[in-house]
Amino acid sequence: MTVKDLSHHLSNEAKRRNASALKTAFKYFGKDNIVFLGGGLPLSDYFPWDKITATSPAPPFANGIGAKPTSESDTVVTEVGKTADLEFDIPLARSLQYGHTEGQPELLSFIREHTELIHKIPHSEWDVIVTVGNTQSWEASLRTFCNPGDFIVVEEYTFPSAIETARALSVNFAPVEMDDKGIIPEKLDQLFTEWDPSKPKPKLLYTIGTGQNPTGSSLSNERRKAIYDIACKHDFIIIEDEPYYFLQMDDYKKNASEPAAVTHEEFLAALVKSFSSMDVEGRVVRLDSFSKVLAPGTRLGWIVAQKPLLERFVRLHEVSIQTASGFTQTLVAGLLGRWGQKGYIDWLIGLRKEYTIKRNFTIDSLSKHMPSVVKYEPPFAGMFFTVKIDAAKHPKFASEFGKDPLKVEAAIYERSLEQGCLMIPGSWFKSPNFKDHGSSEIFFRGTYAAVALEKLDIGLERFGKAVELEFNE
Ligand code: PLP
Repeated sequence: MTVKDLSHHLSNEAKRRNASALKTAFKYFGKDNIVFLGGGLPLSDYFPWDKITATSPAPPFANGIGAKPTSESDTVVTEVGKTADLEFDIPLARSLQYGHTEGQPELLSFIREHTELIHKIPHSEWDVIVTVGNTQSWEASLRTFCNPGDFIVVEEYTFPSAIETARALSVNFAPVEMDDKGIIPEKLDQLFTEWDPSKPKPKLLYTIGTGQNPTGSSLSNERRKAIYDIACKHDFIIIEDEPYYFLQMDDYKKNASEPAAVTHEEFLAALVKSFSSMDVEGRVVRLDSFSKVLAPGTRLGWIVAQKPLLERFVRLHEVSIQTASGFTQTLVAGLLGRWGQKGYIDWLIGLRKEYTIKRNFTIDSLSKHMPSVVKYEPPFAGMFFTVKIDAAKHPKFASEFGKDPLKVEAAIYERSLEQGCLMIPGSWFKSPNFKDHGSSEIFFRGTYAAVALEKLDIGLERFGKAVELEFNE
């Protein structure tokens, strides 16, 4: 299957980028028959790290992914020197050197295999490149596709950093309406169909499809397919920012005991379909990150896209990040190589279990502490939950608050701080150009990822009390 030529969507900046002649000479570096006098490379003998060693838990993580390894059998030791014997290890002499902008081959090979296993992309012209996480991948995406003054479509409530990145590049926003299940496909189609032709048509849709930040919603397979078809119909690129993809959970059950063990096959079959997995035209740019599945400070992620578009990202990286840190690449590739694809899936299954427990606890705690005016749904993925409140039910809505839901939101926020709990008001996540639907519903975002469960329970009790005091319930 041949992908579409999408070069008409490239920004002027991306079109202007040339490969550096110097960098093209690097393919001869390390060749036995060439005396390489071409680069300003420090001799690796002078790198003051002969070896790095790290200990980590070993698959299948029988005591849970948070359990500290206690014996040799449940410990994996990653040990890599300036040279390396194992096929998946990246020798320090190479990773700490200049070069390999697209990522070290051993790491790319693991990520490609993982991508194949999870997404089964329906064309053969895709590839991956390494990034320093989705924050940077998103900035790189904007630079690659958008000129100042261009429009992008964003979810009407979205990740503020993503907005600020685009705003700084003079990009304009066209928000698309959402409901509890994320973007409403019909509204997206309407947005394009009714687009004012005097303005440049949006080139891309930025979406956090799984465990959306801030709403916690996740797009169903059906909606994803509908949105993908709309992208083909109106010719735009989908940027799926998916740091929470592997924080998908089992269905919520009240007062549930431990989630049941699942096989690899069951785990893979239960994952929601990515946009990449349906990308017959090559119009999806998938931003993936190790931040939420390994550690944010690895500063390591990757982009999956059709090769001609990726090549433009590589040209940008050559003159910006160059590549991800060599320490990170060696350590992460070393660990993943020792775990293997199966061991990594074991890890992700363990993560699913932990998040399912946290989410279940949160919903049970909400049902204990929230007054009846507060509504909530168990999220299916991610780190966030939201509580919704009909501001019109506030006794002072029509009088003191002049029927302004945002005033009720501010009052609850202040009151919950007084009670000793902080949840973020939903209005803080409104995208620029947000269109008011005249709804009196407000929401607050909380997370179950960052605190111990006992603390979470205390926090929610305090929030419930704050709402009770406000609404005199
Ligand atoms: N994208 C979204 C939607 C996020 O919520 C976050 C982190 O909170 C990021 C990107 C940042 O990811 P990374 O650590 O990979 O830069």
